[in-house]
Amino acid sequence: MNVGIPKETGAGERRVAVVPDSARLLKKAGVSVLVESGAGVGATHADREYEEAGATLVPTAQALWSDADAILKIQPPGPGGPGGRPEVEALREGSVLVCLLRPLSNLDLVRALVARRVTSFSMDLVPRTTRAQRMDALSSMATAAGYKAVLLAATSAPRFFPMFVTAAGTMAPSRVLVIGAGVAGLQAIATARRLGAVVEGYDIRPAVKEEVESLGAKFVGPTLSAEEAQDTQGYAKALSAEARAKAQDLLRARIPQADVIITTARVPGLPAPRLITAEDVRKMKPGSVIVDLAADMGGNCELTKPGQETVAEGVVIHGPVRLAATLPVHASQMYSRNITAFFQLLVKDGALNLNFEDDIVRDTCVTHEAPISRFSRSRSSSASRSSPRFR
Ligand code: NAD
Repeated sequence: MNVGIPKETGAGERRVAVVPDSARLLKKAGVSVLVESGAGVGATHADREYEEAGATLVPTAQALWSDADAILKIQPPGPGGPGGRPEVEALREGSVLVCLLRPLSNLDLVRALVARRVTSFSMDLVPRTTRAQRMDALSSMATAAGYKAVLLAATSAPRFFPMFVTAAGTMAPSRVLVIGAGVAGLQAIATARRLGAVVEGYDIRPAVKEEVESLGAKFVGPTLSAEEAQDTQGYAKALSAEARAKAQDLLRARIPQADVIITTARVPGLPAPRLITAEDVRKMKPGSVIVDLAADMGGNCELTKPGQETVAEGVVIHGPVRLAATLPVHASQMYSRNITAFFQLLVKDGALNLNFEDDIVRDTCVTHEAPISRFSRSRSSSASRSSPRFR
């Protein structure tokens, strides 16, 4: 079985799905690893390192996509494939694709995968269970993004983060408000604290209060019950109108106090909740900074422009959509471990062995070319999370 690692083609994408150490592990699982020449360069891995790990270098994208029985990548197949064709058309019929597919935002792509009888798995659907922790690419990328968001804010803020006591006087520390204390938010809180800022953490899930406080920040979320704020998987859910108004009032009082806001709030399957209005931005101090990590889902701030930096009312608003890609070495290393651990579930003795009785394989699968009867029989009613699946 040939497993192909292409060079990512998305704008600004410097990560690679599989680093040389993981290529070595894939070889041990009995598969042949094909790597497109230059695939690892953005993440500082030269072709030679892949060869030393036992991979075969393939000179062109065309050769890689046409020889691969399975493609492991980061971004969903994009428009810039071999020979100027879309990457999805370069996938071999009946082959396997594993990437961060985000199927609900990429329905046309999913239809194209069905048409090519591709069996696809989306790393963003890996269940958040203890057994799947090694494969949790969402957490890996959120860790990188949460950290980098604070650095981005610190470099565009016109003030220090820590307090400085100098002969020229005492400089007050920056006040940072982190909205959404999931994986990215907690990492942002930890990073802002390390830089010496005074940090507040806001979330609607009461369960995060302790985590926020354990990082040395103040929890400023509303007092909602767990039932009101989160689903059975521990994710936030859409609030009732009454709970939303209560939460919003509290947040509205915190926003003008902040020099920096890092906002990360998401509700799975829905557009990002709109938490900062244009009016809220108007009440912020000039020179304040917002980094909106929910920009790819529409943004938590009404004025966010995805992928852009804007200035409104003297407030700098960043809407980064691929922040993890700006840390290509560690982001690739983490993703590579996640996708390799996942792919090891799909192979046995060097051949594809799809076990849909396994909840991780089942929940992560988006399209599958096997006969419907076999697939339906293997669907268990105990599926931990309903994932979209297309045949
Ligand atoms: P996420 O990216 O889905 O959302 C980010 C944060 O936004 C969450 O903390 C959420 O509560 C918050 N949020 C949503 N709506 C909001 C609103 N209106 N106002 C304020 N905040 C709002 O979250 P995530 O980082 O993917 O984590 C989600 C859950 O999964 C958490 O409970 C986390 O602890 C859990 N998790 C478990 C594992 C594991 O067990 N392996 C791994 C990672 C995460």
